[in-house]
Amino acid sequence: MAKKRKAARAAGPGRGKGSKGPTKAKKKPLPKASAPRGSVRKRLTRKTGGHAGGHRPARAAGRSRGRVRTTKTVLFRRVAIIGLGLIGSSLARFLKREGLAQTIVGHARTAETMATSLRIGFIDRAAATAEDAVRGADLVVIATPVGAYAAIAQAIGPHLAPGAIVTDVGSVKAAVVRDVGPHLPTGVHFVPAHPVAGTEHSGPEAGFADVFRGRWCILTPPPGTDETAVKKMAELWRLAGSHVDVMDPEHHDKVLAITSHLPHLIAYCIVGTANDLEEHLKGEVIKFAAGGFRDFTRIAASDPVMWRDVFLNNREALLEMAGRLAEDLAALQRLIRWGDGDKIEDILRRARGIRRSIIEAGQA
Ligand code: NAP
Repeated sequence: MAKKRKAARAAGPGRGKGSKGPTKAKKKPLPKASAPRGSVRKRLTRKTGGHAGGHRPARAAGRSRGRVRTTKTVLFRRVAIIGLGLIGSSLARFLKREGLAQTIVGHARTAETMATSLRIGFIDRAAATAEDAVRGADLVVIATPVGAYAAIAQAIGPHLAPGAIVTDVGSVKAAVVRDVGPHLPTGVHFVPAHPVAGTEHSGPEAGFADVFRGRWCILTPPPGTDETAVKKMAELWRLAGSHVDVMDPEHHDKVLAITSHLPHLIAYCIVGTANDLEEHLKGEVIKFAAGGFRDFTRIAASDPVMWRDVFLNNREALLEMAGRLAEDLAALQRLIRWGDGDKIEDILRRARGIRRSIIEAGQA
């Protein structure tokens, strides 16, 4: 039993006992990025070298990463971005910096965010409603917390231009396909996406154009999605410096449940546990936070609305992974109680090995 669990852990997320999803068979072949037929693509003259389309080894994350160097290309006439926070504003900044969109129209929940976005200059125009934002757009990006998607899709559906691509950046994908797909008219191409990138900061001032560089972007187009639209989105994310993969939405949700959603759940939980401690102990927790607690507080500083929506919209996969964690935690507690140093060390060594693999993959 214990051996089986160890084997499952060694195999990686979703490959162990009880896992139905994550197998290679579920991954779809990625279409090669190329110039979409009939697009407004125009070669401009400014040549800047480039790695677009390549899978270069990633550099360290953060603002210090170098600028993405591309051959300047106008990919879209008019881009509408609904949600101008960390991710929406980062994409807008990138599109603007590289001249990939002729016009960027932005919409957010509050007038304040739209005013900030105009002031910073990563959108050309702010639209009072989502419907107004998408009129005449050939690319629509939904970048709000995923709980808002259904209402937004319902509102924009009748106003989408024929041939437009609708995409998103949400951290869950099956719920997005469920909530957005039915509202899109025939002739509009739906290419959901998840850039696996970001920071714990939120809002329009938190974004930066290089946030996607060296990170993965996962596309989850529903079956039958226009290949040209998928290629165009893959090209966009590659230009942003991301590696691109294509997956089934359910597969995505299982993988991300263990690699992202559960770690956030644990961070919020452990910070909450510390917060519930007696006042005097809490003081010590803050004072000695560098012992490891600090890293959890950074993760738990992420936007509560965004993470509430992620937890609620990846319920099944997240509860499955949380159950596995609870079993492993109980097993480790028992080993500590019994003083079984060898087995404890074995578990810790395996975990350390995973950290090395992440560093080698350039994702640290
Ligand atoms: P954020 O910084 O909190 O920004 C959210 C934006 O959505 C804000 O501009 C907000 O407007 C707007 N918004 C909220 N509800 C809206 C509505 N009903 N209509 C129009 N606009 C609305 O969030 P974020 O971190 O960019 O996350 C956005 C999406 O990206 C989420 O779906 C998340 O799952 C995904 N994602 C996040 C990360 C990350 O690290 N943060 C990474 C990958 C993917 P106001 O400012 O006016 O409230």
